[in-house]
Amino acid sequence: MAKEIRTIGVMTSGGDAPGMNAAIRAVARACAYYNVKCIGFYRGYQGMIEGDYTVMNARSVRNIISRGGTILKSARSVDFKTPEGRKKAADQLKEIGVEAMVLIGGDGTFRGGQIFSEEYDIPVIGVPGTIDNDIAGTNYTIGYDTALNTVISAIDKIRDTASSHNRLFFVEVMGRDAGFIALNSGVGAGAEEILIPEEDLGLDRLLESLKRSKRSGKSSSIVVVSEGDKTGKNVYELADYVTENLPDYEVRVTVLGHMQRGGSPSCFDRTLASRLCVKAVELLLDGEKNVMVGIINNEITATSFDDGLREGHEINKELLRISDILST
Ligand code: ADP
Repeated sequence: MAKEIRTIGVMTSGGDAPGMNAAIRAVARACAYYNVKCIGFYRGYQGMIEGDYTVMNARSVRNIISRGGTILKSARSVDFKTPEGRKKAADQLKEIGVEAMVLIGGDGTFRGGQIFSEEYDIPVIGVPGTIDNDIAGTNYTIGYDTALNTVISAIDKIRDTASSHNRLFFVEVMGRDAGFIALNSGVGAGAEEILIPEEDLGLDRLLESLKRSKRSGKSSSIVVVSEGDKTGKNVYELADYVTENLPDYEVRVTVLGHMQRGGSPSCFDRTLASRLCVKAVELLLDGEKNVMVGIINNEITATSFDDGLREGHEINKELLRISDILST
């Protein structure tokens, strides 16, 4: 029989994402509901190593469900990548009396958690919190929906000025290795072209498409570019390339940057965070360990870290086809 768990720790790690506070709240409240002590560690793994924590009860998380960012702060910890760092973290947990951890973060956070749980007998559950949506073990990560809404509201504003001046805008969005944000926001904002890391559409095709847009009488064009786009050119180089080849176009570049991580989480992200984190606490109390929770076909699931982190969380190529049809 699994050992009874009386104290659960929680932390947020890696890139921050809107909805992380809703996730922390759900962990603290579920712990209170099940009469388990909850410890919040600051700055992800670094706070575990340094023993930087706060005791959380149901009231410690009041009024945070609507707030962006994370009250526990997030960090990238170089120390945790070393065996010595992880030993310090394990020693701290032992000293504080934390018997299990809920780790809220992205794939890096999960990899760290997997290694940690293999080295020490401390059950961990990963909760996917990242705007990138690049984790195979879930259809959606916490923060992705809010980021998409932030991006389309920015592109809508750019469209207003673009069409007033007949300009072509390149808009760079986050996603170094994954084109989820670019693809979905591109379709949602009616972009003429979408450039993503997974698919090399080619520069010739881009020029052809822009020429076609011009011929068909469009007054503005928006090209959404993922940070890690496959053409190998960054957004400024792309803009220069188009200016050289299509001198008729007045080209501008907007890099949306860190604004994409901020803001009040959408209802979808708050609900997702709440569902995933109640499940995470319940799984730990049921003796489950070393899995990530996710949402697949609207069911909350538990997947091993290996399966959850495998390559090939594929983008929906159908969206590229839809975008092609609709940008006619
Ligand atoms: P994200 O969780 O958003 O993907 P990172 O990739 O920066 O962000 O990972 C967050 C933290 O997880 C890192 O700063 C590091 O402390 C820990 N981590 C990532 N990969 C490993 C690893 N291979 N071994 C141990 N810890 C890791």
